[in-house]
Amino acid sequence: MAAATAKNQDEAAGAHEPRSLDDPVTRVPGVTEAMAAALGKGLKIFTAGDLLRHCPRRYEDRTHFKAIADIRHGESVTIRGKVINVENIPTRSRVTLTKVALDDRTGIAFLVFFNQWYLKKQFEKLRGREVVAYGKASRSGRGGLEMTDVEWESLSEDKDALSSGRIVPIYPACEGVVQGRLRRAAWECLQEYGPLVEEALPPALRGTRDLMPIGEALRQIHFPDSEDGRLAAQRRLVFDEFFGLQLTLAVRKRQADKTRGTVFAETDGPVEELKAVLPYPLTGAQERVIGEIAADMRSDRAMNRLVQGDVGAGKTVVAMAALLIAVRNGFQAALMAPTEILAEQHYLGIHRTMETLGVQVSLLSGSLPAKEKRAALAAVASGETQIAVGTHALIQEDVAFHRLGLAVVDEQHRFGVMQRAALKQKGFAPDVLVMTATPIPRTLTLTVYGDLDVSLIDQLPPGRKAIKTHWKRGGERAQVYEALRKLLNEGRQAYVICSLIEESEKLQARAATELAGHLQQHVFPEFKIGLLHGQMKAAEKEETMTRFRDRALQMLVSTTVIEVGVDVPNASVIVIEDADRFGMAQLHQLRGRVGRGDTQSYCLLIGDPKTDDGAARLQTMAQTTDGFLIAEEDLKLRGPGDFYGTRQSGLQPLPFVDILRDVPVLKEAREEAFALLQADPNLMQPEHAALKAAVRAQFKRAAGLSAS
Ligand code: ADP
Ligand code: MG
Repeated sequence: MAAATAKNQDEAAGAHEPRSLDDPVTRVPGVTEAMAAALGKGLKIFTAGDLLRHCPRRYEDRTHFKAIADIRHGESVTIRGKVINVENIPTRSRVTLTKVALDDRTGIAFLVFFNQWYLKKQFEKLRGREVVAYGKASRSGRGGLEMTDVEWESLSEDKDALSSGRIVPIYPACEGVVQGRLRRAAWECLQEYGPLVEEALPPALRGTRDLMPIGEALRQIHFPDSEDGRLAAQRRLVFDEFFGLQLTLAVRKRQADKTRGTVFAETDGPVEELKAVLPYPLTGAQERVIGEIAADMRSDRAMNRLVQGDVGAGKTVVAMAALLIAVRNGFQAALMAPTEILAEQHYLGIHRTMETLGVQVSLLSGSLPAKEKRAALAAVASGETQIAVGTHALIQEDVAFHRLGLAVVDEQHRFGVMQRAALKQKGFAPDVLVMTATPIPRTLTLTVYGDLDVSLIDQLPPGRKAIKTHWKRGGERAQVYEALRKLLNEGRQAYVICSLIEESEKLQARAATELAGHLQQHVFPEFKIGLLHGQMKAAEKEETMTRFRDRALQMLVSTTVIEVGVDVPNASVIVIEDADRFGMAQLHQLRGRVGRGDTQSYCLLIGDPKTDDGAARLQTMAQTTDGFLIAEEDLKLRGPGDFYGTRQSGLQPLPFVDILRDVPVLKEAREEAFALLQADPNLMQPEHAALKAAVRAQFKRAAGLSAS
């Protein structure tokens, strides 16, 4: 739509309109309306700038033509020969084969196309002319040398010979756009629009880090002269992406560092007070992290700290220390969780501990009945509530605090850097503590949380036994259930997690309900089985959790709603159905629901993975419980994708970056970004103008995102 309108305007204004990177792709020579529509739909390419940044997926070195006589079976090769014959051959299976014979004087090769009868006409016209073809060769049967998966170009027509005689880019393509046309479009775009791309990096920086100019980099990434050229281009573009991100984070951090926070003068007393009522001593790691938090809270600089710790490391009690410090200094504090279940559970746990200290805790949940909700809001507004626990709705709704001093955000992998900025804009607590169990590799911490100070709880509470994980096939389910029965008979409790075959919560809820019914009636009639899913009312969920915690239920069949945070120490067995459908990080989170007490815990994965990668994932899960290792493995198997959740976090996507490959560049970019901001804190120097504009745009995006 947008493209069509712009095109009309373009025609009206004449073709003299100056070009801009925001031009619709239809303005790129050779891109038709139909192709533009397909590009938009399939690849989210709308503008010339988008097309310039459409990075090839891989390259093929087609610099050399191979003599047909020398081609071996199975090789992928480029050949060059005269068209000597074209035939359409109908087959019994109703597929039309088009066979084109090419002669290069050393031999004859047949290009084979399926169901592209119209090619016959095109090749007829080229009879006697030279064609370059790339494809996979097979020397089987009577047919002589055949080439399939062919890409071809006629030499005479095509001056630039984009698809042969060079290192050829292979792009991620989509329905309605063939590789050759996409390549042609990229080429044209590069000619017309490449020169418009502004050089944002100051020359000095490019010099010290040995980065090629941006125009050159774009040329080399699309149509490399050599492998070295391509690598240098890649390095430059990756650097740009990281640099933009790190500069934004550096600006954020600078702003945060300047922000006056609340001074919580008294920190030792509250921490001692909490320790006195805990049933266990803190671990060394917990002590250290609480110390770091306390130092932040005492200072007049606003706290901006991330506490990272694997599942079960004991983050909640660390949060409680911070909450109590705020309260004992006369402030209110808020704790936000990503799901209602988790908010409710935090409420119960925190309430239990804080009650003994005479601290008022209330739950602000989206699903409270109107009357109770009004009362809760009033208590928060008057200051009677000292600690408010709720979901992220806490910041969206009109919750007015009497005197908020601290916000703790738990399990916040769905809550990004920029939303935190928004949180503060809303006049929320200047001091922020973020807790995450998402085991993200260290390197990614720099990317996503680059503006935060990081504390690591790198020690589990003592007496924990590593969870024993076994992977069984679906056919062994009966044995798994027997093993489960034995454990239940010993007085243990178990979770059974229903897979997420269905996308919708409704269908998931139904699947869980059916599984629970089946297990109760046909497999475990002697035990009490509860059910938990996202479609239940908050009160029902709470009641079920309470009964499970009180051991009135021996088994809890659940959807992944229990993924984060749920904490019932006596539950020491978790069975995960169709485990191959989950990602490793998610399996790790789910598994983290057990192994929280001092008995030996078990995780039983049932799954029949359909791919080797799938099997590798389950194998890794069975072999290790190290969250960081799992995260790294997951990243390797899954590829980077949107791993860092830049979309949710409001940061620009990084199409050129491959995080595993590019860690060294990330480090360089980070150093340079922070150094540059140190030298020119407000980006006032003229040579930083483009960078300043980019950072501005980032913040704008984020503001738009958090407003929605
Ligand atoms: P997570 O880091 O996954 O949020 P929790 O805070 O839920 O972990 O703690 C996991 C379990 O460990 C809870 O049952 C908690 O009571 C217990 N726990 C926390 N700290 C200690 C400790 N220092 N010693 C013994 N148990 C602890
Ligand atoms: Mg937790």
